[in-house]
Amino acid sequence: MVDPTSDLGEDLTEEDAPRCAWCEEPAFGVGRRVVTRVVNGQIEHVHFCGDACRTAWQRDEREATHP
Ligand SMILES: [Zn+2]
Repeated sequence: MVDPTSDLGEDLTEEDAPRCAWCEEPAFGVGRRVVTRVVNGQIEHVHFCGDACRTAWQRDEREATHP
């Protein structure tokens, strides 16, 4: 018997998953992305449910920090 959820090879459940920083869906499964950045000398991990959200967020960040 095959458990389809075990294909991901992850212990994380949807409820445990961090929220996507862009769309606030659970950052969960094979498509998820994590960006590590340093904010005020502290390492921060920003989670995304997929590449599209990461790209959109990074574009937004760049514009927000640009004078
Ligand atoms: Zn997302």
